Amino acid sequence: MAEIPPLEYTKLESIPAIANGVRQAFLSHKSRPLEYRVQQLRKLYWGLKDNQALILEACKRDLGKSNFETYLTEVGWCLNDIVFMSNNLAKFAQDESPLDMAFTNKLFGPKIRKDPLGTVLIIGAYNFPIQLSLGPFIGAISAGCTAILKPSESAPAAAAVMQKIIAESLDPSAYTVVQGAVPETTALLDQKWDKIFYTGSATVGTIIAKKAAETLTPVTLELGGKNPAIITKHADARLAARRLLWAKVLNAGQVCVSQNYVLVDKEILPAFLKELKVALSEFFPEGAQKSPDYGRIVNARQFQRLKKMLDESSGKILLGGTMDEKDLFLEPTVVQVDSPTDSLVAEESFGPLIPVLPVSNLDEAIKIANEVQDTPLGIYPFGNKQETEKVLSQTRSGGASINDGFFHASIPTMPFGGVGSSGQGAYRGRASFDVFTHRRSITTTPAWIEGMLDIRYPPYTPAKQKKFAGMNEIKPNFDRNGKEIGWTWSILGLGAGSKVAISVRMYLQRRSNL
Ligand code: NAD
Repeated sequence: MAEIPPLEYTKLESIPAIANGVRQAFLSHKSRPLEYRVQQLRKLYWGLKDNQALILEACKRDLGKSNFETYLTEVGWCLNDIVFMSNNLAKFAQDESPLDMAFTNKLFGPKIRKDPLGTVLIIGAYNFPIQLSLGPFIGAISAGCTAILKPSESAPAAAAVMQKIIAESLDPSAYTVVQGAVPETTALLDQKWDKIFYTGSATVGTIIAKKAAETLTPVTLELGGKNPAIITKHADARLAARRLLWAKVLNAGQVCVSQNYVLVDKEILPAFLKELKVALSEFFPEGAQKSPDYGRIVNARQFQRLKKMLDESSGKILLGGTMDEKDLFLEPTVVQVDSPTDSLVAEESFGPLIPVLPVSNLDEAIKIANEVQDTPLGIYPFGNKQETEKVLSQTRSGGASINDGFFHASIPTMPFGGVGSSGQGAYRGRASFDVFTHRRSITTTPAWIEGMLDIRYPPYTPAKQKKFAGMNEIKPNFDRNGKEIGWTWSILGLGAGSKVAISVRMYLQRRSNL
């Protein structure tokens, strides 16, 4: 098997020239033809396939991920994404016609063309180092953009493998990787981009957004969240426990969209805690540390951060709590807390910590969830239909899984993204194409139409104005109180409140009373 190359940071002084090279490639128009895009995507597919073993090894080295998890959430995910894109690209890239067009407007052949945004910068995060970097990258290629990827330095093996794959598979003038940490990313941000796609913390997201604003560069921000799970007294305690535990043991809880805390109705709390214990022993019969299926915290800094969160909590550890810093092992840990201000609820843990906060009823749970963060990345209500609908209708979030932990985020063709403080913009499936695409409205004015166009040229004579008003105005199908009116009124253009309409209505009423 090939070796994982060492990670070498890109020389700071070379970054402007690299960015300019990729921009020149876009300006040469080479990345626009569909055939070119599809060919690049397919080459990336085989690059990933041929280096699958290296990717599995890299994710094991960086995050202790099991091969199954890496296949499922990283390689397999990207491979399927490429096949999906390559099969659907022609459809996505087709010109669209606007909806509800007046007949006269059709004469101008209006269409919405899907133009590539240009040259884009993609900044990846460490927890799913391949998927969160190559997912947007696949979108950028599909849209006809040229791109630079800056992988997370916190997953160095995966970063190096991606650089190898991209260099070996893709057109190097249009697609390349810049490696590094804050100084290198800052140097990249000093260049001009047509979009910056960032995945990571809200703190750094704010830095990116501020910098981008200086040059009016659009951003997509995929940020974190203090995501609540809510368990009502009607929920199935065993299902809730198994599903929420799964969402916190996958990737050792380093999942942006996993629940950060669990609000549990006091009535079901004992059953839920009992089932958590059962599920933990079912998932890891020999204990999590001995299991080949349980990952590790990415590095000592993140381990210390999680340890500090746990130390600062005034909650009571009910399950787990074992740590081994040398092994970067942190056992899935259930903590009963008594306040939403507890460190485990008030901050995003991004690790295998499961704070449980008892509540008296669903209203209290919804109130707390909206106070902790009113726009998290995900929300996970467990209960009957009426209760889960109530949660959805009284909260906001990037996405939601009913009676599950983050399942919505595992459907690869659903748009994935945050709202408010958990991010802006979405990708995956068709959305990956759209997020790097500009919808360019285009019309073509034929020469023969000039006579009809006379109406738009000065002088604006009363005759022209009258003719235009007659042609232009759409009659409303609502009255001045906002109530819908029958189609006959709107078609006849009477308006419900007009004198004529009132007289006609009175006449009709009188007739029907006869
Ligand atoms: P990270 O350390 O991997 O950083 C993310 C990226 O930001 C890296 O490429 C890094 O080099 C860059 N970066 C760091 N500091 C910077 C700075 N000062 N200026 C410019 N760039 C900088 O990951 P992280 O930020 O610790 O990731 C954890 C957070 O990311 C969590 O909040 C998590 O919820 C969120 N996240 C969100 C998603 C999502 O899809 N919404 C996915 C994964 C992680």
